[in-house]
Amino acid sequence: MKEIFNEYGIEISKEQEKKLKKYYELLIEYNKNVNLTNIVEYDQVVLKHFLDSALVLAGKKIREIDVKTILDIGTGAGFPGMVLAIFMPDSQITLVDSLNKRIEFLKLIARELEIENVEIYHGRAEDLGRDSEFRNKFDIVVSRAVAGLPILLEYCIPFVKKSGYLISYKGKKYKEELQQAENALNELDSELEEVEKFELKKDDDFRYFLYIKNKENTKDKYPRKAGKQKKKPL
Ligand code: SAM
Repeated sequence: MKEIFNEYGIEISKEQEKKLKKYYELLIEYNKNVNLTNIVEYDQVVLKHFLDSALVLAGKKIREIDVKTILDIGTGAGFPGMVLAIFMPDSQITLVDSLNKRIEFLKLIARELEIENVEIYHGRAEDLGRDSEFRNKFDIVVSRAVAGLPILLEYCIPFVKKSGYLISYKGKKYKEELQQAENALNELDSELEEVEKFELKKDDDFRYFLYIKNKENTKDKYPRKAGKQKKKPL
């Protein structure tokens, strides 16, 4: 595991490696009863879940910003947010998912791995995004495999601080998604600042990070009521 992370310039301590191994064991065990992942083989979980989640640390943006708070929307089994909590002990990481069974798993992981810099919430992005405790509060919001960009922007931007970033984990179709998201970017006072590409060497695949800057506090009308985003994407 150390070798793979180091290849991308990501330092991993013995303690962090131990935590990820335990994470793997609990993921596989829990996955027998609750659907968490289709990827179960150890090497693949390391590559496609753990490394891919942490890859943002090899990127430019996180190093440039003094990141105190990160929110992961639609974290599922904790990707990327729980992995980031392991690698960023000095930042406060908040995880949100709308499925309670996954939330229970995340709480187990936090407890068993003694991860103290994580807060876990059960809820929909559209609802929590209207709560003043969460609204325009986070330095960085991350999200992987949750929705197409126009919908994702309305889920995520309301949580991002003014001048903070949404870092969206996307695949090779990101250009099409960006074209479709032009209106959503305008409506949500946000703009694409940069796209960073990483090669997942052993997987013959690519990860694209879309760095989207939130320029203003979000207009009161967003996010709209749950369901609207899918029925009528911005
Ligand atoms: N981010 C994880 C990953 O990459 O492995 C999970 C991806 S899974 C395909 C999508 C997750 O988003 C699910 O766990 C689902 O419950 C959650 N989700 C979907 N819509 C959501 C919403 N509106 N608010 C909060 N969570 C949501």
